[in-house]
Amino acid sequence: MVAVSKTHPAEAVREAIELGLTDFGENRVQEAEQKIPIVGREAARWHLIGHLQSNKARRAVELFDVIHSLDSVALAQRLDRVCVELDRETLPVLIQVDLGHEATKTGADEKELDELVAAVNGSERLQLRGLMTLPPFFDEAENARPFFRDLRELRDELQARGAFGDRVGDLSMGMTHDYQIAIQEGATILRIGTAIFGERIKPETC
Ligand SMILES: *Cc1c(COP(=O)(O)O)cnc(C)c1O
Repeated sequence: MVAVSKTHPAEAVREAIELGLTDFGENRVQEAEQKIPIVGREAARWHLIGHLQSNKARRAVELFDVIHSLDSVALAQRLDRVCVELDRETLPVLIQVDLGHEATKTGADEKELDELVAAVNGSERLQLRGLMTLPPFFDEAENARPFFRDLRELRDELQARGAFGDRVGDLSMGMTHDYQIAIQEGATILRIGTAIFGERIKPETC
């Protein structure tokens, strides 16, 4: 489980660490830049779960252990180059797949997936861990099921072709209101914010 701490203060993360949580998710590099040094870069495993702009790739490689939001070949190449420059041996990444095609959400199109997988697996330092998706919001969580199922099927196809080496490709899917459905559809990583930290007060940008 990744505890999504976006908009919540470093103090809340510290408390969560004391309670035994180990993995935290942030969606903006700028916010993480403030928060992670206060909590401690090594105090937890940090996951970037929001869209990453190329010009923030360097900071992201410094701040995060895992990137869930890889969505373009250009970004993969940039991250790989930065890893070489910073002497970082491996950077685990998940490809974010855009299954809902909403204007406000990011992610790679299914049609671009093969090319992106090839770019990651052909890179020097990136390690393909799995797929991530953020389905459209539905009042009825059950409606998210087809999206979770689609992601699992994509993972299964890629896995059969050896895209994740000898690992089982992770499925990063499921949030506070739909995690039960995501688990039923095979989620291996849940990204839970509200259920852990409470409602977010500050507005967020994904
Ligand atoms: C905010 C966010 C979450 C967590 O959402 P909750 O509904 O608070 O659990 C999960 N994934 C992503 C990508 C997010 O931006």
